[in-house]
Amino acid sequence: MAYQVLYRTYRPSRFSEVVGQEYIVKTLVNAIRNNKIAHAYLFAGPRGTGKTSIAKLFAKAINCSHFNGEACDECPNCKAYLEGNHPDIIELDAASNNGVDDIREIIEQVPYAPLIGKYKVYIIDEVHMLTTQAFNALLKTLEEPPAHVIFILATTDPQKVIPTVLSRCQRYNFSKISLYEIKKRMMEILDKEKIPYEEKAAEELSRMAEGGMRDALSLLEQCLSYNPDELKLEDVEHIFGLTSVAEEVELYLKIHDHQISEVISEVRNIYTAGADVKRLAANLLEIVKDVLIYSDQGKERLLTRITAAEAQNIINVVPNETLFEDIRDLEQLIAREKQSQNFLVYLELCLIRMAEDKGTTKETVTRVTKTIKEPEIKTVEEEVIETKPVKEDIQEEKSEPDPEMQVIETDMNYLLSLLLNANKDLKISDQIVYNKLDLYAYEPEKRKFYQMLIGTELFASNKDAIIISGSRSQADNINTLSANRDLYRFLNKEFGIDKMVYAIDQDKKRALIEMYKNTPIEARRNPAPVFVEKYNIEEKKEKTPEEKLKDLFGDTLKVEE
Ligand SMILES: [Zn+2]
Repeated sequence: MAYQVLYRTYRPSRFSEVVGQEYIVKTLVNAIRNNKIAHAYLFAGPRGTGKTSIAKLFAKAINCSHFNGEACDECPNCKAYLEGNHPDIIELDAASNNGVDDIREIIEQVPYAPLIGKYKVYIIDEVHMLTTQAFNALLKTLEEPPAHVIFILATTDPQKVIPTVLSRCQRYNFSKISLYEIKKRMMEILDKEKIPYEEKAAEELSRMAEGGMRDALSLLEQCLSYNPDELKLEDVEHIFGLTSVAEEVELYLKIHDHQISEVISEVRNIYTAGADVKRLAANLLEIVKDVLIYSDQGKERLLTRITAAEAQNIINVVPNETLFEDIRDLEQLIAREKQSQNFLVYLELCLIRMAEDKGTTKETVTRVTKTIKEPEIKTVEEEVIETKPVKEDIQEEKSEPDPEMQVIETDMNYLLSLLLNANKDLKISDQIVYNKLDLYAYEPEKRKFYQMLIGTELFASNKDAIIISGSRSQADNINTLSANRDLYRFLNKEFGIDKMVYAIDQDKKRALIEMYKNTPIEARRNPAPVFVEKYNIEEKKEKTPEEKLKDLFGDTLKVEE
């Protein structure tokens, strides 16, 4: 099977077939319905998230004579598109045609009316690859595009697109596609291709694709070229060097045979080999669950990961209570995954704990787990270096203090601790949400959050706080108590993000970076934890009389609970 055949074959041909990006599709469909089509679009986002597919569907839909939520696929425009030769839909791959001449060639055609459609649509893929000269040539057309011309610029790297081009485009940020959606689509395709598969294998491939549909399908093709008759987990593990079920079972048995140093060194080997240790933890959990089910029901068909023989091997040496303990430990470990960058460390601690539990009586098990578990969790929370009660921080500077309109002042040392506790992974995941704020630009109730953040930059993220940089007035606006609290609730409600948002202006940002640079390396690597006080999410719109008084008079009026 040739590379990327699947991706081409299963490219969505209707909006309803697009996987993920439902907000973007909805917005574009509404734009066509309401005849509010922009002249230039920028589709930005990671590879394989549907930018080009959606650009093509959009080009087909705006030219369709009978558009009704979807293109009709029957009018002359749709037919020409489906035959792959619509004269008014012009695609250019800037990765291979990035020179000024390539751009000039298409721009020369811009003034001429479309041949059969309503619009001439230029889709420029990987637009960031254009040379500066080419960008400038394009810019002239973007400045005054004829009414019948639409540009769709797609890029995986919007940072490299010159700002003057960016500012002329309506921007859409494409997000990674969820594991669930990728897996679902992959299984649909396998069904259509009549290829038998193990669901676990599809899941593993989807996980490896990390949010890109194209990658998922290329991984699938690699497996199918190895074994065209069936998609098996065993093959997936073999091809991509993942730990096999047998290895995991062996590891589990070693844990309960007290071969701890060997277990740890194996886990580190797996880690250094580039395999995902989070996946290892999830697999171990599944194995233990299988063993418990088998020891209770004795039915092989109920097993999801291991064979009956493997389950029996474990039952012979590990008592049931220990299995339950292990499930608890592993579940706690996995629940912590989202906050923890040091997952390997936690995994190792967890495995050590699992090994220690064995052989102890029921009473001592409880005691041992207690003494091991609790201090480990507490040390993080105990060593609070600083508490910032945001609400109390308000100064009585103004003559008529309205507490709701006060600007939260954050002390530089506090900001530095937040920054020291920040990391790139959290920033990336918050950035995805941050990019989604564009979607609220047209929602009356939520537009204010979009407006509040437009033009600002996500500077840093840790597990409890986000630092945003912008102009002085933007920062003040975001830090205003009432706005800040609304923003906190909005992020919590819409995205499940439980983080305070602090804004800084450019001067503070520079100062903060300077402070960071002056922080000893050791303190940067091992920053003291920082406690972030958050707003009470429970607070209702309906305020009690006391709260109303407090709103009016601020802290001058003490309200005791
Ligand atoms: Zn049509």
